[in-house]
Amino acid sequence: MQQVAIIGAGTMGNGIAHVFAQNGFKVNLIDVSAPALEKALGTITKNLDRQVAKETITEATKAQTLANLTTFTDLAEGVKNTSLVVEAATENVALKLKIFADIDTHAPADAILATNTSSISITQIAAATKRPAQVIGMHFMNPVPVMKLVEIINGYATDKAVTEKITALSRQLGKVPCVVNDYPGFVANRILMPMINEAIISLHEGVSGVAEIDTVMKLGMAHPMGPLQLADFIGLDVCLYIMRVLHEGLGNPKYAPCPLLVNMVNAGFLGVKSGEGFYQYTAGSKDLVVSPRFNA
Ligand code: NAD
Repeated sequence: MQQVAIIGAGTMGNGIAHVFAQNGFKVNLIDVSAPALEKALGTITKNLDRQVAKETITEATKAQTLANLTTFTDLAEGVKNTSLVVEAATENVALKLKIFADIDTHAPADAILATNTSSISITQIAAATKRPAQVIGMHFMNPVPVMKLVEIINGYATDKAVTEKITALSRQLGKVPCVVNDYPGFVANRILMPMINEAIISLHEGVSGVAEIDTVMKLGMAHPMGPLQLADFIGLDVCLYIMRVLHEGLGNPKYAPCPLLVNMVNAGFLGVKSGEGFYQYTAGSKDLVVSPRFNA
């Protein structure tokens, strides 16, 4: 399995391409947007420079990593002759079903098709192909070159041998694989998102303030970031989307998204990416400033 394709060159796709290329794989990085591909190569180069400066890799490894990467805007061209395709395109069900039908048409019949989706059913994605036994979830964490976990998700029809291959491959990439089954949110988001939602409910009900809730979880539970700051970092729209997946998929009212979260998303307060969520973000400043909306 030396020739792989990564579809989508955004936040996750560039990190996944970086990790494969650094570990000796030939990588075809595919995106519909040529500027996104250019930006991804710039980001990978910057991240490799940082690794060289920290002396975790040599200049020669950096050069070899970049030499292992080829970019494509044409999916059919990019996936042919590959033994593994990892899809990391925009989180949208219709888009992913279309991409998987296309990959199925153009990738070799024995290729494994993986998706980095955070919340869409692997079983549903697999059903868009004629090879559901060879479709699997490979859920990397952000930032990919740094985070060790790969949550490997078995679809209903995934073949055991495919799971074993992807588990071994994840180890080859220097990651720690964890195999889970395909139910809403898998394990990572099934546990993380209700915790974030509960932090927002606690704020909404006046149990405590933004800084206090985050401090309790940081210092009391040794979390590197409080849940409200983490929600801002992930994006409140993404948190709401995943809570809705859990609520609809599991049918239990305990997963209902907090009305405050819904209001904030409707108002465009999405966290870091919009400049304000539970905290306010000013370019160039690293200070954590609670949004005045939450100051008593
Ligand atoms: P992103 O918006 O940064 O990048 C998505 C890329 O996909 C864009 O460059 C876009 O041009 C490209 N794209 C869209 N349609 C395409 C198509 N038809 N063919 C090829 N490329 C296409 O998104 P992201 O944050 O990198 O997320 C990608 C996937 O990873 C999603 O499924 C998301 O749920 C998952 N994920 C994200 C994170 C995270 O923290 N951002 C963490 C884990 C998993």
